[in-house]
Amino acid sequence: MAELTDLKIAAETADARPDAPIRVVYVMGAGRSGSTVLDTILNNHEDVIGVGELVHLFIDGSAQKENCSCGETRDACQVWHGVRERWSELTGLSSITEHERLMTKFTRVQRLAIPEWHRLRAGNPDPDFAECLKQTRATYQAIADATGKRVIIESSKNPLRAKLLCLTPGLDVRLVHLVRDARGVAWSRMKPFAKSKEGGVPQDIKPKPIHISAGYWLFMNFLSEQVRKSFPDQPSTRIHYEDFVTTPEQTLKEIGEVAGLDYTAISDRLLTGAPMAPGHLYAGNRVRTAGPIKLRSDMAWTEKLRPNQKRLTWLLAGHKLRQYGYQELPTTLTESHSETVSDDSLRSAA
Ligand SMILES: [Zn+2]
Repeated sequence: MAELTDLKIAAETADARPDAPIRVVYVMGAGRSGSTVLDTILNNHEDVIGVGELVHLFIDGSAQKENCSCGETRDACQVWHGVRERWSELTGLSSITEHERLMTKFTRVQRLAIPEWHRLRAGNPDPDFAECLKQTRATYQAIADATGKRVIIESSKNPLRAKLLCLTPGLDVRLVHLVRDARGVAWSRMKPFAKSKEGGVPQDIKPKPIHISAGYWLFMNFLSEQVRKSFPDQPSTRIHYEDFVTTPEQTLKEIGEVAGLDYTAISDRLLTGAPMAPGHLYAGNRVRTAGPIKLRSDMAWTEKLRPNQKRLTWLLAGHKLRQYGYQELPTTLTESHSETVSDDSLRSAA
């Protein structure tokens, strides 16, 4: 009951400044890059609500497949129930079917995503586009109103959605391009998982062949780079999973600079090995449903991938891996791979 009162007060507070831009920190890149762990840790800042893969919240069948990281279903979780109610008030829509259609039309990554990329442009006269922006703004307004938090961190990863947010009036978007070694991503995608709603696996996941994963990794990182290039005025950074798990204090500092948040206290807690509260992340990696998490490095691919699998990934994606600072024969990562928009000229991306 106390929580309900808090939500109401939060909504009234947010109502007082309905036109204020809402800050969204958006994590984009390839799946299986550690974004759920990153989102969980970022969510432990008192000014932040981490929302996970928000895009799934507005998919009709999602409630039957996904749970919130608090363990509740989408409709039973107090936070997401409050957000959905507020969203309906703001948009006048009782159903999410239309929003799902618009999201599919503008942000679904399929084939080369060329039609979707071109539809997402300022001044697009399609009435659907204006409606899509309006409903998208309402989504973040609803989250801000229902939670009272001033910064929303989302790890949907889809770069087309990042572009949509950059075009949405009333959002102050900060971009985080998260990169993990393609061989780590490929190894993670080779593992099958059986469907388990409680375990955070919405459907049976079949193993993906190495060459498909290499192509997927190249494509998602290419699109993420294009978003950053298309919106150079938007604060942004590129970070690497491997840096994050070995020197989280440095990565959190870089994200904090982009997000306008001080992550020193969270870094200090991480370095003492303190577990991080799971919050209310919706959808994403199964780790979010396992309770408080601790940061640990997952470099299993270096031992588990067969030499020919490593060679094939390097053959297909090595040019881009090299550009990102990875080596064909990885040793301990000693040098930061990260770069931010503000210091592009000082630090080479290679
Ligand atoms: Zn929840």
